[in-house]
Amino acid sequence: MSVQKIMWEFVKDEDFIAPPWRGSIHNRGAAVDLTLVDLKGNDLEMPSDFDDFSERAKINYNCCSIESIKNRELLAEAMIKNGFRRIKSEWWHFNDEEFEKYDIL
Ligand SMILES: [Zn+2]
Repeated sequence: MSVQKIMWEFVKDEDFIAPPWRGSIHNRGAAVDLTLVDLKGNDLEMPSDFDDFSERAKINYNCCSIESIKNRELLAEAMIKNGFRRIKSEWWHFNDEEFEKYDIL
């Protein structure tokens, strides 16, 4: 929650940061932000950088390379198969399907 408060001070936009008085699914320990890497640990191309608060972060953004779309959808497919859900505003963010079971930390 202390980090949530700091992040809210920098980005007061509820599309990307949950206000501290409501808390986020991250604050429940039930969300993860991640990307794909190759065998050497290099990030694979995605439509935007991580924590890019622009249109490019949205999961339906398609004005980017086919390779980046393919990688974004590969990541989503793997996460959904393993019990996570996407959100519309961030390609890198996934929620545990049962996040409602967990209280704010
Ligand atoms: Zn996140």
